[in-house]
Amino acid sequence: MSQKIFLRDDEIPRQWYNLQADMPTPLRSPLGRDGKPIGPEDLASVFPMNLIEQEISTERWIDIPEEVLDAYSLWRPSPLYRATEFERALGCPVKIYYKNEGVSPAGSHKPNTAVAQAYYNKAFGIKRLTTETGAGQWGCALAMACARFGLECKVFMVRISFEQKPFRRLMMGVWGGNCVPSPSQETQAGRNVLARAPDTPGSLGIAISEAIEQAIEDPNTRYALGSVLNHVMLHQTVIGLEARKQMERVNAYPDIIIGCAGGGSNFAGLAFPFVLDKIHGKEIDFIPAEPKACPTLTRAPFAYDHGDEAGMTPLMPMHSLGHKFIPAPIHAGGLRYHGMAPLVSRLAMDGLLRPQSYHQRECYEAGILWARTEGFIPAPETSHAIAAVVAEARKAKEEGKEKTILFNWSGHGLLDLIGYDRFMRGELQDVELSEEELRDCVRCMDSHPRP
Ligand SMILES: *Cc1c(COP(=O)(O)O)cnc(C)c1O
Repeated sequence: MSQKIFLRDDEIPRQWYNLQADMPTPLRSPLGRDGKPIGPEDLASVFPMNLIEQEISTERWIDIPEEVLDAYSLWRPSPLYRATEFERALGCPVKIYYKNEGVSPAGSHKPNTAVAQAYYNKAFGIKRLTTETGAGQWGCALAMACARFGLECKVFMVRISFEQKPFRRLMMGVWGGNCVPSPSQETQAGRNVLARAPDTPGSLGIAISEAIEQAIEDPNTRYALGSVLNHVMLHQTVIGLEARKQMERVNAYPDIIIGCAGGGSNFAGLAFPFVLDKIHGKEIDFIPAEPKACPTLTRAPFAYDHGDEAGMTPLMPMHSLGHKFIPAPIHAGGLRYHGMAPLVSRLAMDGLLRPQSYHQRECYEAGILWARTEGFIPAPETSHAIAAVVAEARKAKEEGKEKTILFNWSGHGLLDLIGYDRFMRGELQDVELSEEELRDCVRCMDSHPRP
């Protein structure tokens, strides 16, 4: 029997699943500068109204537009695999299934929301999108999507990644995107940071401030965010909806669902359609996997905080290390964000998730074992999910239990080989946020209201 479980082209889900319809505890509204809940109009200079409506919608099912389905059909439905060789290498009583989101044009799950956001902006009459990117995955996804829908694309790329990872910025160029290192001299937010810390490695929080500043200044420009927001989680549910059908096809159901968590979107995309089962009493263990250098869900408080360094975004109720937090320059650039999706944070607060954190070297070890058994080279972000799979498989062996694990293989690492090389040369350190650093970085939220 094939280890690869395909769906037919006409089995791409035609609706996204909106967990906001079923949250055990509904989300609290974001707050404006005055500390009062904000309304849709307050976001109108940053996002198009059709996406703002999705952001606050509590409709359970939302139709996927035909134009977006057409774009999806380039790489969707994505294959689900059983990782038999990896299972054999581990020698634990587990069945491991994974959803391969590395087959998209940009090489990760991010195009699932990029094509949707480009479509809705285009439909609203917008000409240009600005955004931030860490490792470059989101910038690539958005540049590809903007090219497809005829929009201009401006990307602020975290400086450390811009320097360490030139290939994704070159890909953005091929798709017609304009990518600059952040902090830059092009915005007030960037100039402020550079004046204070000229050698900063940059952070996603800073890059977001720059992108929003440019969007607000021009009525034909809007901002696109690759994770964190409710509408991004919504678009990513196409992953979990497909995975459900594929698991059914082989009569399997997961005991454990795993995804790496930066802003939470690939985890949410796989998990949310199954979270509904857990709310209705099924026993599933959900594990968002994050770096010990940026332990948002495992150690940060649930607070009201800004999504960006300059404090331009509304305050969102989420786990946050503080909007001024600049994480150690680990190679998993996509997991270096200070905050976490409010929907994922809320589920964690309600005890529905079991977040775990891992050291960068155990992740590379897991990623290399993966490549040598299953063939595909995972992104450094994805290797955090694989480290979680390894840990859970060993635990199953110790407990003498058989488990079925499903995880999101969020992207390939073919453009992240420098990190692998440095790991194999023994040049990488494990960095763990200290108690003292944690106390310092959360202090910037002291004046914010409590959720
Ligand atoms: C961006 C990215 C992530 C982290 O972002 P989430 O929103 O948490 O999914 C994980 N894996 C890959 C390959 C990425 O590109």
